[in-house]
Amino acid sequence: MEELKGQKCIFCGKKTLTLMQDELDIPFFGKVFAFSMKCVNTECNYFKSDVEAAEIKDPCKVTFEVKDKKDLSVRVIRSSTSSVKIPALKLDLRPGPAAEGYVSNIEGVLERYKKILESRRDTTDDDSERKSIKNLLKKLWKVQCGDIPIKIIIEDPTGNSGIISDKAVVEKLKVKK
Ligand SMILES: [Zn+2]
Repeated sequence: MEELKGQKCIFCGKKTLTLMQDELDIPFFGKVFAFSMKCVNTECNYFKSDVEAAEIKDPCKVTFEVKDKKDLSVRVIRSSTSSVKIPALKLDLRPGPAAEGYVSNIEGVLERYKKILESRRDTTDDDSERKSIKNLLKKLWKVQCGDIPIKIIIEDPTGNSGIISDKAVVEKLKVKK
């Protein structure tokens, strides 16, 4: 892993940005560049991470069904250009500049979603929203225990994303022009 400290932050302008780049070789996917930017200025806390496949790939739609606990360790590559959907958990992560790209596993994707839900639960003033978030968290917990199956769908027009399992269904994504 390469690390560059003391870079100028594009957000706050201070020389408090750490750049990190890593090269990963992922079986059945290929070489992936993972990079992140993190500002250590506590008033700024700018953070951005993304992944990019070394080779050019086709637009893809990957569907994977999480059926038991073993499936939680399946590797996931999510780039910032992809959308991640788990309809049963009302999860719909949109692509864009604020989207995080990362190499993780199914469990990591669920954990990230759990953090988003927990912070929303703790900050909302709306009682009915808090209730529905609590229900989603309960459901998420059952998924993590392998009690209920769910479907995860990743769509990436750049093809930089993937779910590495022979049970994952990979289709060519039709890109709207
Ligand atoms: Zn900053």
